[in-house]
Amino acid sequence: MRYISTRGLSAAQSFSDILLGGLAPDGGLYLPDTYPQISAAELAEWRELPYHALALKILLKFVDDIPACDLKVIADRTYSANVYRHCRPNGDAGEITPLTTLEPDFHLLELSNGPTLAFKDMAMQLLGNLFEYVLDKRGETINILGATSGDTGSAAEYAMRGKHNVKVFMLSPEGKMSAFQRAQMYSLQDANIFNIAVRGMFDDAQDIVKAVSNDAAFKAQYKIGAVNSINWARVMAQVVYYFKGYFAATTSNDQKVAFCVPSGNFGNICAGHIARMMGLPIAHLVLATNENDVLDEFFRTGVYRPRATAETHVTSSPSMDISKASNFERFVFDLVGRDAAVVRELWKQVDSGSAFDLRGTKYFDALPSYGFVSGRSSHADRLATIRDIWTTYGVMIDTHTADGVKVAREHREEGVPMIVLETAQAVKFAETIQAALGRDPVRPKDMDGIEQLPQRVEVMAADMQAVKAFVVAHCG
Ligand SMILES: *Cc1c(COP(=O)(O)O)cnc(C)c1O
Repeated sequence: MRYISTRGLSAAQSFSDILLGGLAPDGGLYLPDTYPQISAAELAEWRELPYHALALKILLKFVDDIPACDLKVIADRTYSANVYRHCRPNGDAGEITPLTTLEPDFHLLELSNGPTLAFKDMAMQLLGNLFEYVLDKRGETINILGATSGDTGSAAEYAMRGKHNVKVFMLSPEGKMSAFQRAQMYSLQDANIFNIAVRGMFDDAQDIVKAVSNDAAFKAQYKIGAVNSINWARVMAQVVYYFKGYFAATTSNDQKVAFCVPSGNFGNICAGHIARMMGLPIAHLVLATNENDVLDEFFRTGVYRPRATAETHVTSSPSMDISKASNFERFVFDLVGRDAAVVRELWKQVDSGSAFDLRGTKYFDALPSYGFVSGRSSHADRLATIRDIWTTYGVMIDTHTADGVKVAREHREEGVPMIVLETAQAVKFAETIQAALGRDPVRPKDMDGIEQLPQRVEVMAADMQAVKAFVVAHCG
């Protein structure tokens, strides 16, 4: 299997070659040159598999330059009950992604039982093990530099902690994350993890990371890498739980289901699109946004209008507060019949800060055949949904999952199981849970008192030179 760029001007690469990189040299995103097709016999066999074995089957469809026996070791270690142990009261950690049935044909797929209680662990844990494997084989090292407002940074740190040949330098805005999120990240004592709190906002941290990454000489000399959401291996890892969720919510492979996905950068739902292209019987992919409705607008109107950063709403489902969706280009590449010249033309408009409009084109006519529908949610909707799911079913959901449940309810179809992807646990967003329920969120037992643990964080000015100097001094 070869990986090609959505912009069509970079050479095709193998899996291991694109694993450690980000964008393709031509500015595009990597995708497999064809989507593997899953036969009816395979689907029947896969229905019975535990998560780690299913993951291996799917990885083998996309990875042909790592021996199967080594991939098996990686999949077994990544998807073990020991890693996904923060299950909700009725969940079975051995299931990795247990299904919670709220009522017949209406389910939550728990994706947030990993170390940081958000679905990003599902992919990031695999990435950590793949990085370690490939770096070992090549005798290379990497220094991951990133900026986070919460979920991504902690998922990356928990995936890379203690890994040889990998160091993580994670910038966060000082004092802007919740006490729980700060405790999750800053209490890590692993020698290869460095937390840097910059005096400024998330955008200041992000700008520093971009500036350092644009310094090609520095990047090469100090082996600077990233683990952002455009990484192909993260999308690939997420394909697995669409299959798992399908099997859990159906009794036969003749049935179709719908998935509802709380969306920001389009990474999670992109994996659903790929699962559907591989032949998984998905009737609809329901895309849910919060007030930042760039993607909902596209699927309703055919107009993609990325917003200016200043136009981005700060909401109570913060991991969906995006102004442009970094993985969306992957879907559009498929939508335009994989014509890279068309993608280049469309993204010329996006990169110059304007919108593109597919209305009146053959691509717009093709859109319904991809199964997407969408909707948006507001702060008031989140509060009402969290309250309703708690009082009706006794299940506590987080703010992002609430956006999903709200929109999923608008798109239910008779006889089609609806599976809402649960992307985080409520404990991460205590303030909104208090506002909705007048009580503290439930918290996994082994996370009692993490706010009191000693913290390890370097506070510095939002200054690129200071960050560079810190990296140089610690990257060894
Ligand atoms: C990252 C994140 C999302 C959005 O996922 P995308 O892949 O960016 O669309 C939704 N919910 C939570 C809790 C997240 O951390």
